[in-house]
Amino acid sequence: MPVRTVGASHRAAHASQVTESPEVRAALNWFSRNLNWINDQQIHITEVPAPPFQETARGEAVKSLLAECGLEVSIDKTGNVIGELTGATDKEIVMLTAHLDTVFPPATEVKVRRDGIRLSAPGISDNGTGLAGLIAVARAIHDAQIKPRRTILFVADVGEEGEGNLRGMRALVDTYHAKLKAVVVLDGSGTDHVTTKALASRRLEVQINGPGGHSWSDFGMPNPINALVRGSIRFINTKVPASPRTTFNLGQIEGGTSVNSIPYEAKLKVDIRSESEDELVKLESALRESIAAGARDEMESSRDRSKGKLEWKIDVLGTRPGGELAPNSQLFAALRAADDYVGNQSRVERSSTDANIPLAAGIEAISIGAGGTGGGAHSLQEWYEPTGREMGLKRALLTLIGVSGLAEEKSK
Ligand SMILES: [Zn+2]
Repeated sequence: MPVRTVGASHRAAHASQVTESPEVRAALNWFSRNLNWINDQQIHITEVPAPPFQETARGEAVKSLLAECGLEVSIDKTGNVIGELTGATDKEIVMLTAHLDTVFPPATEVKVRRDGIRLSAPGISDNGTGLAGLIAVARAIHDAQIKPRRTILFVADVGEEGEGNLRGMRALVDTYHAKLKAVVVLDGSGTDHVTTKALASRRLEVQINGPGGHSWSDFGMPNPINALVRGSIRFINTKVPASPRTTFNLGQIEGGTSVNSIPYEAKLKVDIRSESEDELVKLESALRESIAAGARDEMESSRDRSKGKLEWKIDVLGTRPGGELAPNSQLFAALRAADDYVGNQSRVERSSTDANIPLAAGIEAISIGAGGTGGGAHSLQEWYEPTGREMGLKRALLTLIGVSGLAEEKSK
């Protein structure tokens, strides 16, 4: 097919221009000589806790590491750590980013355990691998003295997970929007995928309140937990389509004060996602209808409504917009050229990542793993094995340089 032929030759031209540069070759060779150093940085970063909304300490640690790469590093008012490598032009910017935050609360044990080549700790892969990759690519580019055409920002950003609601990336896109040409997000491990499609999602919190009372003497009063359970059962019976893929998760539930008290409050956090914005809207209304019905059922079955009634509300905790990278974009060509060069095959995925924000703003963006293999993300059993990390780092570097371009060589 003619279209494919054009794409392939364009890719090949793109790849050779970058990979024939002696500086780029030197940067690619840097990784294999420094694998132990990269592992050590990953362990160091992972052992600095970064609970949601508490990324400052880890941000400072990453700031020092980026400064050692010869970058001008600053921290913006949102908490993003930004290392700048000025290009031949500072009118155009590309970014390599990795999120700082984890999903784990402050008291979580984050000491990294080594068992052979396996490293285990909460956050070791998501996003210890991405952050170590960010540092390694910055260091390789610095040591090899690559001079990019467009300015490169190496960014460790805040607020990717959960209720962080991508606030770090939102601030970056707000600040750099006019100049920002491409964003490469390093998130987790692997080289098997490239996320080019942003999955739209919403996080909602249900809250039901009532008068509260004693389990025995006030029996029959409306109970917010009962209402929440009634509503939840209605909601989880909602039929969602397999295509467009649409999902929901009841992720967190809380309420009540003791076993022998009728609670005055019950809360539930729900995550809903869909490949289709329409299905997302439908599912959110299904939740609202289910909770309304649950509260109504509980009121109708209560014996004593004299001491008050139930109130309920649903707040939107976060919303992630959808978007897609154009298949004929420069960034996608750079990624495919990098895959070809390192001998990697990757599948295109739709997911909810930091790339949602630039994609929704019409800026080229992808999210990829930073190599090696990992598992158990968001669990206390999370692990990482660095075998194959080099391929991921080379792929990330070549993709980044593919979109930054190289400053014109001086004539020899
Ligand atoms: Zn992540």
